[in-house]
Amino acid sequence: MKGITVLGSTGSIGVSTLEVIAQQKDQFRVVALTANRQVNRLFEQCKTYQPEFAVMVDEDSAQKLESKIKQAGLATEVRQGLAGLIEVARLAQVDYVMAAIVGAAGLLPTLAAAEAGKRVLLANKEALVMSGQLFMDAVQKNGAELLPIDSEHNAIFQCLPENREGNLAAVGVRKILLTGSGGPFRNTPFDELHKVTPDEACAHPNWSMGRKISVDSATMMNKGLELIEACWLFDTSPDNIKIVVHPQSIIHSMVEYIDGSVLAQMGMPDMRTPIAHALAWPQRMNSGVARLDFFSDIQLDFQKPDYQRFPCLRLSEEAIRTGGTMPAILNAANEVAVDAFLEQGFAFTAIAGLVEEVMQTVASRDAVSLDVILEDDAEARNVAKSIVSAA
Ligand code: NAD
Ligand code: MG
Repeated sequence: MKGITVLGSTGSIGVSTLEVIAQQKDQFRVVALTANRQVNRLFEQCKTYQPEFAVMVDEDSAQKLESKIKQAGLATEVRQGLAGLIEVARLAQVDYVMAAIVGAAGLLPTLAAAEAGKRVLLANKEALVMSGQLFMDAVQKNGAELLPIDSEHNAIFQCLPENREGNLAAVGVRKILLTGSGGPFRNTPFDELHKVTPDEACAHPNWSMGRKISVDSATMMNKGLELIEACWLFDTSPDNIKIVVHPQSIIHSMVEYIDGSVLAQMGMPDMRTPIAHALAWPQRMNSGVARLDFFSDIQLDFQKPDYQRFPCLRLSEEAIRTGGTMPAILNAANEVAVDAFLEQGFAFTAIAGLVEEVMQTVASRDAVSLDVILEDDAEARNVAKSIVSAA
């Protein structure tokens, strides 16, 4: 039996994780579930999965959850705040931590799981984008296992040789081919992009996801963050990664070898596949995902990414090439811009411009410590917010 903490259990990835675990009750025991402020959903999950701990970041929500849990006579203990998240990421009885909080809020608990030597199932790409080397060092130093949940990185992981020693070149890799659907606005007339609404941006053609990552997919900042994520996960540079637009999301990414072989991982666009893969690795288990039917009319198309339409691709590449805290600055600016687009009527097409302006204003420093990273994240957020208020 493996004990598991699901950070962000009420979100899209969190719910999919619990669905996969529910089919393997003899293998996994839910130790802790966490959410920001979705009291009712977390309460329902507590009734179903009977975790030892439930954490709500928001204080009022924690109190509401606690009284519901008492009333229902459940044994689950309620914790609150960031301290609660970190506590349940480190518990001795926890073997696996699903990192499925969205955005920078996931950094400290995810890092805590790595420092505690857990198997970290990484969905929260922003955490790795922000902390890069520091995070990879924590994994290495504490004997943690890092398994990618992002479908592309999970696919790349599956297409690389297991137990690989040394860098990608040492195992004959020529390039990583990072696929992306191009999002809902791949073919939208360019002069209509400025007026797209949050609901249009969140209506992804292939995947059903949380709103932040959905907007990132629409700007293709998601692919940019994934480029940075891939550099860290696979110890490589943007020179060795090619972004390939593949609108159907059947191929989830590929690895090209020097002999001309290209290995692809395919499947239905359903996050339960990478989740089940990472939970069972190095074995395999059922995910509940529908099988790929090659005799239905599936089609595989490929295109070059459009850097004119999607400037966030260029900005992400610049951020990882600059290095230091620049990826954290890019990420922070993007989080503010996406939030402003979702909540305050900030224009969709202004997101990339805001990120670029923040990157030009906040100087990147060597990411020598968590404090430095968090300081630059905070400064980038302040600059970004002042640009939003002036807009
Ligand atoms: P979501 O918005 O559906 O869920 C987010 C979860 O995080 C919720 O449980 C929420 O309560 C919690 N949360 C939100 N703000 C928080 C805060 N300040 N502190 C603590 N907890 C907080 O998001 P999602 O789509 O499940 O994505 C989660 C992560 O997984 C993101 O980093 C995303 O990029 C990544 N990811 C998601 C998908 C997908 O298909 N949804 C695919 C690949 C990667
Ligand atoms: Mg992805």
